[in-house]
Amino acid sequence: MADPAAFLKHERREPPSPRSGKEPEGWFAPGAMETQASRCLDCGLPYCHGFGCPLAGRIPDWNDLLFRGKWRRALEIIHRDNNFPEFTGRLCPAPCEAACTLALRESPVTIRQTERHLAEEGWRRGWIAPSPALVSTGRRAAVVGSGPAGLAAAQELARRGHRVMVFEKSDRPGGLLRYGIPGFKLEKSVLDRRLEQLTAEGVTWENGVEAGRGLALSRLARDFDAVVLATGSGPPRELKIPGRELAGIVPAMELLVRSETGPALPPEDPINPGGKSVVVIGGGDTGDDCVESCLRSGASVVRQLEILPRPRTGENILSIWPLPPPRAAAKNGEHILWSVATLGFLGKEGRVAAVRCARLEYPEDSPPRPGSGRVIPGSEFEIPAELVVLALGFEKADPSALLRDCPGGEEKFFAAGDLLLGPSLVAKAVASGRAAAAAAGRTLENTGPGKR
Ligand SMILES: Cc1cc2nc3c(=O)[nH]c(=O)nc-3n(C[C@H](O)[C@H](O)[C@H](O)COP(=O)(O)OP(=O)(O)OC[C@H]3O[C@@H](n4cnc5c(N)ncnc54)[C@H](O)[C@@H]3O)c2cc1C
Ligand code: SF4
Repeated sequence: MADPAAFLKHERREPPSPRSGKEPEGWFAPGAMETQASRCLDCGLPYCHGFGCPLAGRIPDWNDLLFRGKWRRALEIIHRDNNFPEFTGRLCPAPCEAACTLALRESPVTIRQTERHLAEEGWRRGWIAPSPALVSTGRRAAVVGSGPAGLAAAQELARRGHRVMVFEKSDRPGGLLRYGIPGFKLEKSVLDRRLEQLTAEGVTWENGVEAGRGLALSRLARDFDAVVLATGSGPPRELKIPGRELAGIVPAMELLVRSETGPALPPEDPINPGGKSVVVIGGGDTGDDCVESCLRSGASVVRQLEILPRPRTGENILSIWPLPPPRAAAKNGEHILWSVATLGFLGKEGRVAAVRCARLEYPEDSPPRPGSGRVIPGSEFEIPAELVVLALGFEKADPSALLRDCPGGEEKFFAAGDLLLGPSLVAKAVASGRAAAAAAGRTLENTGPGKR
């Protein structure tokens, strides 16, 4: 840190969100990134790194390198902890910024945007290139599932010299990065260029194969020396309330996958939000994406319902610091209704016509959680709705269920990502994939030829 007072001289700057349609005035001008990096205090206890970042990224180190103009070296340091900074630089809710010491009194250091911009420079200048292992161990590893957890595990194992094959249920790899997270948050070309890098590093792919159905786990145990399971979360959560059977009530993933992949939805398609009044139930990442997707598809009005109250903005910041990352729904200020319970759906000729709701109040003395709110008597109201999108999150999957058809050989299996953690974040999935690869790698290296 060359100038400890830089944060007093320079304001935090971040380009406007692509949603706003505004130009990123000056952010990409020479020196802009260095100026932002110079605001970092190089804290003795960097909360950004130890508490905030799920990947424990060495944020103060790369901020310092960036400030000194050593972009390529800064990118190398990022890649030591994070295989895919261009994914996290676009998608992460940036718990590192919420935990940054400067968030206490000033605006936090611009970490996520710097990561994204630096990764893009790396691709543009050819600094990011395949890095295949120099020596092959001859050991074979399978990765089941190709979301961020599976991809990180595959890359780590391949770079250790193991022969890696990825098995994926869908027709193309990428997990929720491809089928779930909309293109306006992550362009699919950004995913494809990383997949090309993994292929050049020796990873091979079997798409359209479902482990546990077409592909027996016992076969994987027999044919491979280690298996990383990264099959993601369980099924979407349901809302069992009167009227759920009406037409026009759809799960979020159906809307997102159909609107974001394949041909444009025809106007007569009942799932097309164009011209309709839409209610999105759920205020997390998925709900947020559905709101944006419906607005982009020309919905006449979109309302988002969140059961929890609006997050507190701390009067006494020290009592709640490091801050939690901002809730996605907070971005949809004009569309969202907080502290709302959904009581039922009303229909007309078999199709949904309105959502019955009520206001909730939460106890003052404990943090609000789903189920702890009380319906305020007499607060019931209705919202007209021609399309309702259920975005209530996902159940946690049970990793041991996958292993039922595989008696014995469990010591070869390692779990990662949402399968292990429950519905989570891309950064956590990458961290977990790396940890699973490290553990699988130890098994492979300890049971290698001559060590069995
Ligand atoms: C709509 C939406 C938006 C999101 N937005 C964000 C965001 O902005 N930022 C963020 O950080 N996180 C976001 N998330 C969360 C994030 O996408 C997940 O936490 C992350 O993708 C989990 O990675 P994963 O590799 O564990 O699983 P997944 O990405 O779910 O990948 C699992 C893969 O395994 C495959 N599979 C499943 N079963 C089998 C089987 N039996 N055999 C073979 N293959 C199988 C699946 O087809 C899938 O490709 C979002 C999630 C959703 C749903
Ligand atoms: S907490 Fe903020 S100021 Fe401190 S080292 Fe991390 S990025 Fe820099």
